[in-house]
Amino acid sequence: MDVQEITTRTALVRSRIPGVEFVINPYLGCGHGCRYCYAVFMTKYSRHHVRSAWGQFVEVKTNIAAVLRDELRRKRKTGTAMLSSVCDPYQPAERRYKLTRRCLEALRDFNWGIEILTRSPLVLRDLDILKTLPRVSVGLTIPTDDDRVRRVTEPGAPPIGSRIVTLRRLKEAGVATWAFIGPMLPMNPERLAELVAPVADEVMIDALNYRGQVAGLFRQQGWAYALTNEYAQRTRRVLMGRLGRKASSV
Ligand code: SF4
Repeated sequence: MDVQEITTRTALVRSRIPGVEFVINPYLGCGHGCRYCYAVFMTKYSRHHVRSAWGQFVEVKTNIAAVLRDELRRKRKTGTAMLSSVCDPYQPAERRYKLTRRCLEALRDFNWGIEILTRSPLVLRDLDILKTLPRVSVGLTIPTDDDRVRRVTEPGAPPIGSRIVTLRRLKEAGVATWAFIGPMLPMNPERLAELVAPVADEVMIDALNYRGQVAGLFRQQGWAYALTNEYAQRTRRVLMGRLGRKASSV
């Protein structure tokens, strides 16, 4: 992994994601290296890694928490920010750099609402902050129940079991939790619903977009069936049926 420290001029970015006001991305690049990642286009914004493969580099915005504090100070009213939209805020580099943690502290100090979406149990390191926030929710992306599928499609991301445990610990600590079943990878939807139902207050479900990006990989693995609309519809139907009112579709 090629890790490079950089500086940034902005922290809060207005979001086009429905229901999300602002996003914060402390890193450019992502060590989780998901093969289906929608954020691969971010490579072109890199000054140092334009030709690097996604998942092989991360640029660390070392000053982002200070920039964020300046921006929050200048805002007339509070809002809600999501970490993150084009990187995982708890990817491996966060263990050393603690940028996400420092951004959480800044948002807390200015009374902002916070939404977190990650694949990593490292979020539990910041439970001391999360427990004190009046407006916070933490989502874990869990796109399959099958860790063999996870190893192929998300080679740098933590195992599925650890994500379920993370949701459980967050819920036990009184933090609002949600699971993001997206993209719907090859899975046993009944089993996945059983896993997430007790630990997630809400569940969002999304199809596999950018199918062309993983078509070759899926065929090679014998998963071509999961590239079809029929698979997406059938899987969504089972998940929605099992999860009931907890579930919604993106
Ligand atoms: S964790 Fe998210 S941003 Fe990182 S590689 Fe996977 S899909 Fe992309």
